Amino acid sequence: MKKYVYNFKEGKASMKDLLGGKGANLAEMSNIGLPVPPGFTITTEACNEYYNQGEQIWSELNDEIFSKLKDLEAATGKTFGGGSNPLLVSVRSGAKFSMPGMMDTILNLGLNDEVVETVKNNTGNERFALDSYRRFIQMFSDVVMEIPKPRFEKILDAIKEEKHVKYDTDLTASDLKDVVERFKDLYKKEKGESFPQNPREQLLHSVTAVFRSWNNERAIIYRAMNNIPGNLGTAVNIQSMVFGNMGNDCGTGVAFTRNPSTGERKLYGEFLMNAQGEDVVAGVRTPQTIDKLGEINKEVYDQFVSVANLLEDHYRDMQDIEFTIEKGKLFMLQTRNGKRTAAATLRVAVELVEEGKLSKEEAVMRVDPMQLDQLLHPNFDTEALKKATSIAKGLPASPGAASGKVYFTAAAAVHAGKNGEKVVLVRQETSPEDIEGMIESQGILTARGGMTSHAAVVARGMGKCCVAGCEDIKVNEDAKQFSIGSKIYNEGDLISINGSTGHVYEGVIATKTPEMSGHFGTLMAWADDVRKLKVRTNADTPKDAQQAVKFGAEGIGLCRTEHMFFDEDRIPAVREMIISETLEERKVALVKLLPMQREDFVGIFEAMEARPVTIRLLDPPLHEFLPHADEDIKELAKTMGIEFETLKERVESLHEFNPMLGHRGCRLAVTYPELAEMQARAIIEAAVYVKKNKGIDVHPEIMIPLVGDVKELTYIEKIVRETADKIIADSGIKLEYMYGTMIEVPRGAVTADEIAKSAEFFSFGTNDLTQMTYGFSRDDAGKFIKEYVNKGIFEQDPFQTLDQNGVGKLIKLAVELGRKVRPEIKLGICGEHGGDPASIEFCHKAGLNYVSCSPFRVPIARLAAAQANIKDKMGEYSQK
Ligand code: PEP
Ligand code: MG
Repeated sequence: MKKYVYNFKEGKASMKDLLGGKGANLAEMSNIGLPVPPGFTITTEACNEYYNQGEQIWSELNDEIFSKLKDLEAATGKTFGGGSNPLLVSVRSGAKFSMPGMMDTILNLGLNDEVVETVKNNTGNERFALDSYRRFIQMFSDVVMEIPKPRFEKILDAIKEEKHVKYDTDLTASDLKDVVERFKDLYKKEKGESFPQNPREQLLHSVTAVFRSWNNERAIIYRAMNNIPGNLGTAVNIQSMVFGNMGNDCGTGVAFTRNPSTGERKLYGEFLMNAQGEDVVAGVRTPQTIDKLGEINKEVYDQFVSVANLLEDHYRDMQDIEFTIEKGKLFMLQTRNGKRTAAATLRVAVELVEEGKLSKEEAVMRVDPMQLDQLLHPNFDTEALKKATSIAKGLPASPGAASGKVYFTAAAAVHAGKNGEKVVLVRQETSPEDIEGMIESQGILTARGGMTSHAAVVARGMGKCCVAGCEDIKVNEDAKQFSIGSKIYNEGDLISINGSTGHVYEGVIATKTPEMSGHFGTLMAWADDVRKLKVRTNADTPKDAQQAVKFGAEGIGLCRTEHMFFDEDRIPAVREMIISETLEERKVALVKLLPMQREDFVGIFEAMEARPVTIRLLDPPLHEFLPHADEDIKELAKTMGIEFETLKERVESLHEFNPMLGHRGCRLAVTYPELAEMQARAIIEAAVYVKKNKGIDVHPEIMIPLVGDVKELTYIEKIVRETADKIIADSGIKLEYMYGTMIEVPRGAVTADEIAKSAEFFSFGTNDLTQMTYGFSRDDAGKFIKEYVNKGIFEQDPFQTLDQNGVGKLIKLAVELGRKVRPEIKLGICGEHGGDPASIEFCHKAGLNYVSCSPFRVPIARLAAAQANIKDKMGEYSQK
């Protein structure tokens, strides 16, 4: 028969899957001889089986629980539910990953009207007995029976007021008797029956409540937010009670072995005398700092300090510890690796190495790469944020914090920004035309679009805060308003957005620029020593490129040339080129664009110095560059000296039903080879110039987007090579460049062997590859993918974390086919996945040479790449 219940002595720290984090650590502490009150753990498998059995505790589990309870009675010499020495227990949930707020603890279980009398007589402490009983009634009613806690608190407050006392510790035994009676009355009123007097029934109800809590709304949301699978289940810990509320020689507290905000090596915690656990967090009395415990009871304090040190050494990590003091004796109730800020994470990891407790590689493994985000962007001040109320929530598309006045068009945002106002650009969704408005804004909020929508990608690229796909808001750009329910926000109203959580707030919230301490640099250097994957950046401007280099970028993996076309001074020439009806006309426009493009590339080559730079030829559908409103068309017609109607017709003729699958990517170069020629010329002339004049050994890589057939690539190769080779030959210097392609169309992946005959490198464009493999529009998928994730159909949004089973297979196939034909082929990724740690691990395993991501993700990618290699090495060791 399967075992579902484990005594603390039977478990250990490594059994977290089965016993949950709390249970596994209680077992570990018991086994290393620390003072842990005895108890047992009902496994996470039991929780899953509870659901399989139609949410019932089946009879074998029932028997196993009560048999373990018998052992507990024997171990403590107490009897559950009565007798002369009654056993009281706590019941606490504990999943593999700590999920704060999933379920509260139930203390003092086993009390009823009779048992409370025995406790009173045995301890000679009526006040304590009644205090424990009133706490139990409230916790059981709240946590198990779902009677709202404030209803109990109201009664307690009323009695305190009647008795003219401030603290619950000031209530006498007879006051507490009154509290108990009123609590029981409330229970009866709410539930239509008396408070359960049978402790076995109380216990089973509580176990069931813990199992149920696994699927309560808070828990589901928490799991979704933290990528915790829904099928893990929670364990239930049942532990004999020790009491911190028996008098002034008793108390309870929580402490971290290091400061969780800064990482400083110093015990950091709080305690309350004559109290039970929930009082410390509930704020009914102000707890004292942990060092004051030394003044109250030096012996217990010293013992606590040595246990805390022992636990930290044992787990080799900062611990978050709960303890209780019963009549001057210390008991440990929980330990776990403490949650901490990013700054603290780095400091603790680095100092543990310096203290000789961790290896450098272990320290590198200790830091969650995504946590580095906190260090790279300005964030809301924690205290100010606590006081703010969220009014809406969207996708945390680009981390950081922004407060400012709402503007609804890029033009208005630019105008306000230039006037020195702080701006939050609010749009239904953004398009490339909004780029200047985005640059001028502190943050961007969109009602539509997912994590790879235009707003999200561009904002991340700029390191600018963005909340995308915020469906709670209804945007009316014409009326210059957005609404949330019936509340309307107008142009100029102040809002704040948190790109790290997706929350939107009313008004301004103070921000703080995080400090990059020396620990950051130290840990990143260790990471660089161990990674195999190179890390490049997606950058389109010298400024972004410089930022990325500061963050450690080793090259540019994707320079999207279209972003350069939107500048105010060049959009007229771009429009002229598109509108041109003849080759001659188009060439006139291209001649105007050439020097501007060349100048862009000179800037980028200089910023990147000798690092490789991949420049992609024009990719998006041309009509994105065109004006759509009549007024704009009129204005353009005037500047171009053509009739409004003619221009309008031409714009309309460029309309596409499905532009993402339309006239874009390499198809543009096939129809307008002169465009590819101009871009190749701009790139190579810039490279020659920088090499000749600045002495920088430039390495341009010309990349063709959206290739599905090698013939597309060879057609364009001829144009590019003829142009480039001639310029180089004429320059009289030696310059090497590469010609390659993006693999972002499934056909391109499956024919990669053919494509590799022309391409010297592949860069996986996993945004489009995901879009086309799934057939999900990357701009619209945000709407329904949320549901896929909520319903467990997808574990993650495939536009954020690479779908390894599908898209990943195409990548592996393309790698294999490409290398077969061209063993030295250079392989990278430049879709958004290039900055996602799980996807980076995949890229490492798939044998890519580099990942490329937005500048602010570069440190994250460096760390994730190091972790991928360490895991890989560990895997090799464990196989040996
Ligand atoms: C991609 O498709 O993954 C890519 C990087 O190109 P873009 O996002 O510009 O389409
Ligand atoms: Mg693409």
